[in-house]
Amino acid sequence: MMRCLFPLLGLLLAALLLTACQGSRPLAEEDRPPPLLLISIDGFRHDYFDLADTPALDRLVAGGLKADSLHHVFPTKTFPTHYTMVTGCYPGTHGVVANSMWDPDRDARFSLGNRDAVGDGFWYGACEPLWVTAENQRLTAATFFWPGSEARILGVRPSFWKPYAADTPHRERIETVLEWLDLPADQRPDFLTLYFSSVDSMGHRHGPRADPVRDALIDVDQHLEMLLDGLEERGLLDQMHIVLTSDHGMSWVDFDQYIMLDDYLDLSRVRVSDWGPAAQIWATDMEVEDIVAALDGAHPHLRVWAREDIPDRYHFGSHRRVPDVLAEADLEWMISNKPYMMGRRQFSLYGMHGWDPALLEMHGLFVIHGPAVAAGGAMPAVRSVDLNDLMAHLLGLEAPANDGSLDSFRPYLDSGRAGQIEHRVYDCQGERLEARIGRAHMALHVDEFVHVLDLVDADDGRRFAATDVAFQTDGVTARAEVDGRRFSACRAVMANR
Ligand code: AMP
Ligand code: ZN
Ligand code: ZN
Repeated sequence: MMRCLFPLLGLLLAALLLTACQGSRPLAEEDRPPPLLLISIDGFRHDYFDLADTPALDRLVAGGLKADSLHHVFPTKTFPTHYTMVTGCYPGTHGVVANSMWDPDRDARFSLGNRDAVGDGFWYGACEPLWVTAENQRLTAATFFWPGSEARILGVRPSFWKPYAADTPHRERIETVLEWLDLPADQRPDFLTLYFSSVDSMGHRHGPRADPVRDALIDVDQHLEMLLDGLEERGLLDQMHIVLTSDHGMSWVDFDQYIMLDDYLDLSRVRVSDWGPAAQIWATDMEVEDIVAALDGAHPHLRVWAREDIPDRYHFGSHRRVPDVLAEADLEWMISNKPYMMGRRQFSLYGMHGWDPALLEMHGLFVIHGPAVAAGGAMPAVRSVDLNDLMAHLLGLEAPANDGSLDSFRPYLDSGRAGQIEHRVYDCQGERLEARIGRAHMALHVDEFVHVLDLVDADDGRRFAATDVAFQTDGVTARAEVDGRRFSACRAVMANR
């Protein structure tokens, strides 16, 4: 009896193995989507388009769909924002809450210079990045740098990836991506990433829009031109999708505008896991309420919240790595401490980011080019948390549940019509509001802030909403509420489409 069971078991095992292998084999050529290349130019502020002659960027804009800007997430720092773009999760959900962070369960620190931490999937596993979704759903992913891409996340790495090396020549990055696209069909990647850091580095060193930033941008653009020419030669340029982004903007900082936390707090009694535009503070030897009391009203350019009081609009509440207390400085103001600043002059830091993502200066860049969108289109500011669902859709992937949505992009996809922005300026009893309205969402410009709102009702006038922000218009008149501030009796003083 046992003797006849063995061959049967063997057959069963072989059948199981075959099914398992088929599951992991790439999809057949005819079932695969056009490739999608996601590019990030670190620190490209939304208004850098007019900084220099950038023929490659212009080519992508002319042939694609450009948003006014990209509204990011808090904090507007490289690792949190990049990881949001590929997960659709807010940092308070995906757990990459800063470039420098502390995990209370593991009692461990993460920082960009710590290669072991950067390559450790432990820090990223709360949300699934798009390259893992792609690999799990029988597509192939290839990353030429992206925060998180060096780590095995939820057991999976991209089929092709590179250990981060900031000095890798830009030409090598472009040539490698083209080589990947030249691979035989059964190996060619479907989802690819490319990343450039030089525009951000120059922005920090010389300030936003300074000449070295312009030079770095021209260099990146020349390399993008190489890429576009290479794609065109291969007949791929109009067949595939290119999503061009940046991870945040850049603001001036001034040596005279530093807030010294140790003027108000005994730093030996707390842990500060991140400094800069915002400080992430942990109650080690002090009560949370005592820290908040010590900082509340301490400096006219500083705000402070206990974890549960952080404004909902920041979506920064739920992960265990979100600190007990968050202090945020005003734009152009920084939070530091006396030992760190001792003896320093301006120390080559003229640009910074990390503040409230609604501040227009923190907004980044978004352009999409490819068969799904009509050429020459424009749309109001979009949200970075929605990009993962957009890219998953274009790749035919089922995105895991996240904080984003495809809704604001859907009316622009496969519509055959170039996007246009309806632009209105309102006077609200002396206060000014600007509305930039798209097909299913809008951007509301209030002072130095730009909020992105979803269309929630179009029956009786139009109503738009987002967390802590609402806008309602019948065309000529409007009213709005932003962070509890009311704008009423608003009359359109300018309108054009
Ligand atoms: P930020 O100041 O937040 O814009 O951080 C930018 C820095 O992050 C750049 O100087 C990059 O060199 C660095 N960076 C970008 N990607 C990675 C990565 N995958 N691993 C380590 N560092 C990175
Ligand atoms: Zn960055
Ligand atoms: Zn930076």
